[in-house]
Amino acid sequence: MAGESRDDEAAGGPELRRPGPHPIADPVNPAARPSVVGIDVDDETRCVHYHTALDVIAIKMRCCQTYYACKDCHEALADHAIETWPRHEWDEAAVLCGACGSQMSIRRYLESGSVCQACGARFNPGCRNHYHYYFEAAPGPDG
Ligand SMILES: [Zn+2]
Ligand SMILES: [Zn+2]
Ligand SMILES: [Zn+2]
Repeated sequence: MAGESRDDEAAGGPELRRPGPHPIADPVNPAARPSVVGIDVDDETRCVHYHTALDVIAIKMRCCQTYYACKDCHEALADHAIETWPRHEWDEAAVLCGACGSQMSIRRYLESGSVCQACGARFNPGCRNHYHYYFEAAPGPDG
């Protein structure tokens, strides 16, 4: 009973533990996902304004280089007016698929036919009617 403390910590390295029971490996590194700003944003970037099964797109705003769930969230939370992406910058990766977390260029998104080319998730084709809020002179529903 000498009360001597033994230092066992030198043996072995720290053990890496998973934070919880996740039987299915997440194919996307969550840390690589940009965070999305918005009101009541869920894991797939739906927000209080657009929250159907297909509303899984977030768009990086040109004005603040920040991903927002939608323009209405930007209007509510940002202190400045939205800026559209000029056509010559459409190769910028500014669209996020909330389903798989991959980013695509504006051009690729506009040509995607409302399907994520990375994971196959379907996007809301109704977003087409809102392109002009985000992208300069985007083709309308009638071409
Ligand atoms: Zn902004
Ligand atoms: Zn919103
Ligand atoms: Zn995807």
